[in-house]
Amino acid sequence: MIKENVKSILTELPKHVVLVAAAKGKPPEDILEAIDGGITVIGENYCREAKRVHQVVGNRARWHYIGIPGREKHDLLRRKNLEIFDMIETVDSWDIASGIDRKCGEIGKVMPILIEINSGKEVQKSGILPENAEALIKKTSVLRNLKIMGLMTMGPRFGDPEDSRPYFKKTKELFDQINRLNIPGVEMKYLSMGMTNSYRVALEEGANTVRIGTKIFGETCALTQ
Ligand SMILES: *Cc1c(COP(=O)(O)O)cnc(C)c1O
Repeated sequence: MIKENVKSILTELPKHVVLVAAAKGKPPEDILEAIDGGITVIGENYCREAKRVHQVVGNRARWHYIGIPGREKHDLLRRKNLEIFDMIETVDSWDIASGIDRKCGEIGKVMPILIEINSGKEVQKSGILPENAEALIKKTSVLRNLKIMGLMTMGPRFGDPEDSRPYFKKTKELFDQINRLNIPGVEMKYLSMGMTNSYRVALEEGANTVRIGTKIFGETCALTQ
């Protein structure tokens, strides 16, 4: 079933869009089946879980961290975990950015990151407020062991997908605005927004990366953000 789900989503997505399989709580068997269906990127919310499934799945996919870094900073900044992840999508503070930079410097890695935008403001807690994003990006752009490659946002996970549209619109505007600044070292390439409920709206608003869990793996994804 997982394999068919992936195939049908991939058929629907425009070619340039990256499909991240949001795999929190999913065993390696499920992830391998998704890869069999055509998934190339796995999204993980928890370092411990990522490490466990990565031991089995390994480099058959790329790994994106999509959890809340402030909540498990100690874990995320471990060498082993930073080695697993190919991108950290949820950087939302100088504290996390500089921590990633320092640790990646030690292991000789340049980590691609996205800046998470709290586009819903009061609706959700993680992410940096849109008005503070430019300053964080400018400050972070000088760090040599990470590379800013775009923005990510959550928006509401349930309810009417149309409710997400203003948040996606706002994040896209910010994406374009930062892109126009041509900040040295910053490459505004990825705009990660949209989940099972909202990815069609997100695509309409300019997303080129979508993070889908439930529609791939079934109904048991726990709410984490
Ligand atoms: C769980 C999760 C998703 C996927 O949500 P679904 O509604 O199951 O598609 C996407 N992004 C993040 C950050 C998540 O935690």
